[in-house]
Parts: sequence; structure tokens; C-alpha cells
Amino acid sequence: MLNNTFLEGKTALITGGAKGIGGKITETFAQYGAAVAINYSGSEDAARELADKINAAGGKAVIYKCNVADFNAVKEMIDNVIKDFGKLDILVNNAGITKDNLMLRMGEDDFDRVIDVNLKGCFNCMKHVTRSMLKQKYGKIINISSVVGVHGNAGQVNYSASKAGIIGMTKSMAKEVGVKGICVNAIAPGFIETDMTEVLSEDVKSAIRQSIPMGKMGTVDDIAQTAAFLASSSADYITGQVIGVDGGMGM
Ligand code: NAD
Repeated sequence: MLNNTFLEGKTALITGGAKGIGGKITETFAQYGAAVAINYSGSEDAARELADKINAAGGKAVIYKCNVADFNAVKEMIDNVIKDFGKLDILVNNAGITKDNLMLRMGEDDFDRVIDVNLKGCFNCMKHVTRSMLKQKYGKIINISSVVGVHGNAGQVNYSASKAGIIGMTKSMAKEVGVKGICVNAIAPGFIETDMTEVLSEDVKSAIRQSIPMGKMGTVDDIAQTAAFLASSSADYITGQVIGVDGGMGM
């Protein structure tokens, strides 16, 4: 049974945790009692504002500027989080970008950049939390994939490859560390209203809505509540799973 402070005593790092889906996950985890480390790359004002809001409400939040694609910078960030908070229990790999184009027009840079941030960024963070989670025999890792990582999407060969890669990495990691009390799961959101989808034209959004059995786009709260459940003790026997939060789109 979950109470409203079911993450009390836990420390969570959320990558890209200042705004959008990551911002809502940060806020929700803090509301449920977790101390939160907010990673950001460009959104310093948003990160600071969110941390101030959480700290003013009696929670604990610290911000960390770091490009998740940079292996050594991620190591430094995670070492600092563990030093500042004493431990790290929950990692949410949320940072992600899109650089959409049809294969014919997609440049090598657009492919490399999306793989570097979305897929290698997820590897970098999991790699550097593993030792401390193994030592404490406890951890929850939640990787944000996408419905297009399962089903593909025209114009997104780079993005869908990165999100499919996250699913493979999630399952492999879950098999490696399950016996040590670490759960590794992925969430595959459908289309969620954020800056990432705001750029789509009204025609595209309307076509998307028609392809969703529930007939509407999702909200950041839909993803944040699922992440909070996976981070909670109610999900202690769930690992290696991909939870679709997509209004039925991925059926
Ligand atoms: P968003 O653009 O609002 O947020 C992405 C966040 O990642 C931003 O805070 C950004 O600063 C951060 N980020 C980008 N590059 C980074 C880097 N190199 N290092 C650290 N942080 C970096 O987008 P969103 O919609 O909130 O997306 C969050 C996650 O959810 C992404 O992984 C995205 O692929 C995934 N997702 C989103 C949707 C959707 O419909 N919005 C659907 C499926 C999956």
C-alpha cells in the first residue's frame, strides 16, 4: 500500500530533470518524499527554479549541470551526487533529444548526436551508478524509452534506434543485477504534451490523436506517476519490463 511519502529516505537522480517529463518526475518524486538530484544541460533557469520550489517546500533538491553524452562528466556528476546526498537509490534516465528527418535526408551528425545523448547517455549513467548500487544491494533504474522504440516511426530512424537500444540495454542490465536487488525497467511513453511534441504541426498532432485508442495525447503526470510506482517498494518484484504509457497506441 503506497502512502504519500513512500519515497522518503530515498535519493533520486533524474537526467534532463528540469522540465518536461523529467521536470514532472523530479517534482513528483520530491512530493513523495525523495531527495532529488536534478541534472540539466541547457535549462539552468528551469533547474534552479524547480530546486528552489522543492527546497522552499521543505524537500531537498540540488542541481547538476552535465551533458549525459560525456562519459567522464557523468562519472563526476554521479560521484558528486553520492558525496552530497550520501547515496543514490533511484536513477531515471530521461534526458533525450530528437533530430528528425527521412533517411534520405538524415545527416551522419543527426544520427550520431541522437545516439550519443539518448543511448550512450543512458549507458553512461547506468555504468557509473552500478558500483554503488551493487554495494548497497539496492537500486531502481528507470529508463525512458518510447513507443517508437518498439514500433518504429517514419522520420525517426535515429531516435527510434536509440529508444529500441534503451530497451535492449534495460533487459540486459536487469539480467545482470537482479540478483543484487537492483530493478531496471523502461517506460515507453506514447505522445506526451511537452516542448518535444509542441514543435509538431496541428495536422501531425491531429493524425497522432486519431492513431491513439484513447483519442488524446498523454500528460507529463501520466509518465511521472508510472515512474514513481516503479521507484516504489510496490514494484520490488518488477524488473526488465517495458511499461507502455501511451493510451493504447502500442497495442
Ligand atoms: P524535453 O525536450 O521537454 O526534455 C528533455 C530534457 O532533456 C530537457 O530538460 C533537456 O535539457 C534534457 N537534455 C537534452 N540533452 C541533454 C544532455 N545532453 N544532457 C543532459 N540533459 C539533456 O522533452 P520531453 O518530452 O520531456 O522528453 C523527455 C524524455 O521522454 C526523452 O527521453 C524523450 O525522448 C522521451 N519521450 C518523450 C515523448 C513525448 O511525447 N514527449 C514520447 C516518448 C518518449
